[in-house]
Amino acid sequence: MVPGALRLRPLLVASALVAAPAAAQPAPTAPPASLPTIEKKTEGMERRDGFLPVYWDAAQGKLWLEVPRPGEEMIHFSSLPWGMGSNDIGLDRGQLGGERLVRFERRGPRLLLVQPNLEYRSSSRDATERRTIEESFAQSVLWGFRVEAATGERVLVDATDFVLRDAHGIVAALRRTRQGTFRLEASRSAVAPERTKAFPRNTELEAVLTFTGDDAGRWVRDVTPAPDAITLRQRLSFVKLPEPGYVPRRNDPRAGYFGTSWQDYSAPLGAPLTQRVVTRHRLQKKDPRAAASEPVAPIVYYLDPGVPEPMRSALLEGARWWEAAFEAAGFKGGYRVEILPDTADPLDVRYNVIQWVHRATRGWSYGGSIIDPRTGEIIKGHVTLGSLRVRQDFLIAEGLTAPYAKGDERATEAERMALQRLRQLSAHEVGHTLGLAHNYIASAEGRLSVMDYPHPVVTLAGDRPTLADAYTNEIGAWDRLAITWGYAEFAPGTDEAAALDKLLADARGRGITFVTDQDARPEGSAHPQAHLWDNGTDAAAELDRVMRVRRAALARFGEGVVQRGMPLAQVEEALVPLYLSHRYQVEAAVKLVAGQTYTYALRGDGQVPVRAVPRAQQHEALRALLATLEPASLALPPRLLALIPPRPFLYPETRELFEKRTAPVFDALAPAEVVARAVLGLLFNEQRAARLVQQHALDAAMPGLRQVMDTVVRATFAARGTGGYEAALRRVVQREVVTQLVRLAQAPSAEVRAQATQRLAGLRRELATGAAALDDTDRAQRAWLAGEIGRFLERPYDAARVAPAITVPPGSPIGDDDEPLVRERP
Ligand SMILES: [Zn+2]
Repeated sequence: MVPGALRLRPLLVASALVAAPAAAQPAPTAPPASLPTIEKKTEGMERRDGFLPVYWDAAQGKLWLEVPRPGEEMIHFSSLPWGMGSNDIGLDRGQLGGERLVRFERRGPRLLLVQPNLEYRSSSRDATERRTIEESFAQSVLWGFRVEAATGERVLVDATDFVLRDAHGIVAALRRTRQGTFRLEASRSAVAPERTKAFPRNTELEAVLTFTGDDAGRWVRDVTPAPDAITLRQRLSFVKLPEPGYVPRRNDPRAGYFGTSWQDYSAPLGAPLTQRVVTRHRLQKKDPRAAASEPVAPIVYYLDPGVPEPMRSALLEGARWWEAAFEAAGFKGGYRVEILPDTADPLDVRYNVIQWVHRATRGWSYGGSIIDPRTGEIIKGHVTLGSLRVRQDFLIAEGLTAPYAKGDERATEAERMALQRLRQLSAHEVGHTLGLAHNYIASAEGRLSVMDYPHPVVTLAGDRPTLADAYTNEIGAWDRLAITWGYAEFAPGTDEAAALDKLLADARGRGITFVTDQDARPEGSAHPQAHLWDNGTDAAAELDRVMRVRRAALARFGEGVVQRGMPLAQVEEALVPLYLSHRYQVEAAVKLVAGQTYTYALRGDGQVPVRAVPRAQQHEALRALLATLEPASLALPPRLLALIPPRPFLYPETRELFEKRTAPVFDALAPAEVVARAVLGLLFNEQRAARLVQQHALDAAMPGLRQVMDTVVRATFAARGTGGYEAALRRVVQREVVTQLVRLAQAPSAEVRAQATQRLAGLRRELATGAAALDDTDRAQRAWLAGEIGRFLERPYDAARVAPAITVPPGSPIGDDDEPLVRERP
């Protein structure tokens, strides 16, 4: 899961930043006439044998690295065994940098760490053809070592400076998040010999790195004891390539797998240049002929032993849900989950791990993997679970159920829901590290996948919200299908492509499909069924239902959400998630407006590529959305407003609370403003507005932008003359309508601008009429809004406001790439 997250292989953030070595390179000096042997040079040092043996010279504080086989390709990546603890900065415990294929190349006195270019490849058997491609694209030399000793082919280098540098891109991450200008401080950095190890398949080099700066941002100050010195640990890993024998599986956009891709410049003419394969673990049957067989080696995940109960059991159970999927895919005991032995290191590449991470604020959990960049084979799955998440779910449940009638009861229903959610989260993140992307259409098809973001299904028992069915307790039909598609090993002689295709076709026949992030997020996407944190097949009907549950919960809401002896002001902590409990269903419903149903259809698979959401459904969605802006939906019960005092001493405002224009007093309008901004901002999203214009132009029976704007203005500006809190809530919404129309009147689409501008001009006129029935405050707002609209419409001409042109796809160099090279003479 991701902020936006959008997190397609989320852990690659640092990779682009790592290419340029930050620290100074050792100065080139003349090589000694004859090099000592490694044995001689390392006398008295502590040797740790493994994939790349390391030597620790404690007296000098130097780390030496032996490269036994220069030229051998391997995988290299950075990670953070000790994180920063800030979700906003994103440098978490266990974070993996992007993996890269590298090799050490000896050139006289130097040993270069070379990253070949895997983006452009050749599948040709002809060596000269392969060379034309290899030599056409740059490689990257990541580091240059001086060879200090050699025995036969084996060489020894001083790796101290290599380890004591910002390979993970920490300075850049701090700069990117505007947290200050920090530098690596060499005098406060050192090799961590106790965590520098060599295993049979990998070598781990760890260092304590300190970054200094004097302009630390707020997030740094929140989590660092002395904000001018940030000390973290960085690990650099070298991993042996897996043994040959892994067969990549070609990707299919309908199958829901992450993948890796490259350009094959030897592909036959007419065949695709881009090759796409899925990322998955290696799993082979002992008996490939058997429908069900034990695996040659199972996939084993290990849970961080540092997780306390009851979370530990919940995480174990959730991760174990996948056992059923691998059984269904034909592997007996093909997958299992255990507690990581105390002696094992979670960053040891031989262990797939589920790691428990603490941060100052709640944040995303995620599943990342180290893959073999040549084939997409997952070498290590690494799940990061934020520990505060379960507490947030507990808080949500407290707000829904108000469990403390007397004040000292145990909130068992809330506990149960939070742990149910944690099981599902564990399954979800492990799913990512098995290769699976989000499937956001699954909740519309009936809890078909843990790879969706689940919203708790809260129902009403009488007038009381109940959490009995909040979350599922197993993986779904999509999950089983996806594991079978990605991992099944078909009997020899099977047409694998046809068998895989049939799996997906059969699933479609049962209403099981896949739609992922790019089509699910509310801002830029149009799919009416693939959403985050939603439920049900009909987003508008579900929004109505969620609003009924919210109303019932708000009616019961009160001091029963905090335990006796806690500050009453903390009622607000539980109020925020409850008041906003419909925010995600709003995001879902809004996507019906100018929405289009579509799939990742391939030619010949018989799917309907795209169809507009029916007109009636679009109107229903608009109605349900406007209902959330009614004063009855926005108002807080007066009883509740009388219950929340200003924050007490030592309990400051936090970002988890509503902002208060009335500070320190609770702001009765601010929550409504938050909702109005969310609903209207999404409804009047620029692309949605342009889609409305287009659907009406193509089919006059479909709602257009003008019609939607008219409906919204009518619903929110009708003069009612009620006065009081209700009228104040209406004014909040009216201000937001004008704000959003002004924004649309500056949208990139000229069609949208023209219609929004016309609507604003009309609104200005309407504001001048019918005011007689209103009270003074309403009249004041109308006059002020009319003035604001007038000033906007009459703004001075600004050439930069002309609608941006659509970019023309490139033409040249096609047709003129054989022009003679003309050189100017001096
Ligand atoms: Zn996710």
